[in-house]
Amino acid sequence: MFAARYVPGQKKLSLTDIPKPKPGPRDVLLKIRAAGICHSDLHVLAGEVGYTHTFTMGHEACGEVVEKGSDISTEFKAGTLYAVHGPNPCGDCTYCRTGFDNLCNGPGRTFVGLGQDGAYAEYLAVPARNIVEVPKGITPEVAAVATDAVLTPYHAIKALGEVQTNSKVLIIGLGGLGMNGVQVALALGAKVTACDLRDASLEMARSMGKLDAINSKDLDKQVKPGSFDVVVDFVGRDSTFTQAQTFVRPGGTIVLVGLGSQQVPVISTPLISYQVRVQGAFWGTHQEMHEIFQLISEGKIKPQVETAPMKDVNHWLEELEAGHIKSRMALLPNF
Ligand SMILES: [Zn+2]
Ligand SMILES: [Zn+2]
Repeated sequence: MFAARYVPGQKKLSLTDIPKPKPGPRDVLLKIRAAGICHSDLHVLAGEVGYTHTFTMGHEACGEVVEKGSDISTEFKAGTLYAVHGPNPCGDCTYCRTGFDNLCNGPGRTFVGLGQDGAYAEYLAVPARNIVEVPKGITPEVAAVATDAVLTPYHAIKALGEVQTNSKVLIIGLGGLGMNGVQVALALGAKVTACDLRDASLEMARSMGKLDAINSKDLDKQVKPGSFDVVVDFVGRDSTFTQAQTFVRPGGTIVLVGLGSQQVPVISTPLISYQVRVQGAFWGTHQEMHEIFQLISEGKIKPQVETAPMKDVNHWLEELEAGHIKSRMALLPNF
């Protein structure tokens, strides 16, 4: 089968033909219908993650179950879409057992498409417990990108930012995650301000609903410091994290999602004297997968997705790196 694989030291994925995977006793075999591409892929290809082995990339997966392992009694419906919970938790460790399965530290755990084989391929074998049925009416490309680009902002904003009706929320960075973050915050009834350096992204954000969209350059002029209950930084660079600290209110929360740089500056005096909470956010839980698909089904979140043939994956990763992808992109295995 076709597979686009990470090879240590290479800056492009290797497009190869490998054997179709065999599902283990507790796995299912998915025929991939769509796979989302993500900035994390660029970090891997740049060698920043330090993987020393070859694997098929792609951690945002949607497909149909075509085979199941000997221990799986669940019936999977033909033609029904299933999305993969990318953190691929073990189901058995303390975190998994208490509902924090995005933090799983079970033995040998690895993420789908990040260190172990993922979705840039015709087929993917994953543990049956880590797939979620996609409600009818949601397309494969929307389901695939939702597993990260909706799940991550949903977890960051609802569970960690504890955003509620009328919370004042500042979303920094309107890439794929930030744009869905705007929709999540609006769906929760928050009063939303969104900022980015790109005017086209601000324009797109304005089409999402009632909100203020302000160029990051003008934030100082247009917004008073200390204005927001919650600031969500989807970029994670010096400039954005500094802005987050400027604009969060006393006693408020900064949720850091973006991994734009390995270190961000903490300005300790205001942080301490105003009791600001800084909260890291990582991906999302299995339970939240069901919740986001419900919201998408109800039309409360409409993820913007572009599609392209999977065999062109290297081209689209370059386009992503160049900042040419406006929303989020899913690859379709239409060979
Ligand atoms: Zn991702
Ligand atoms: Zn676990």
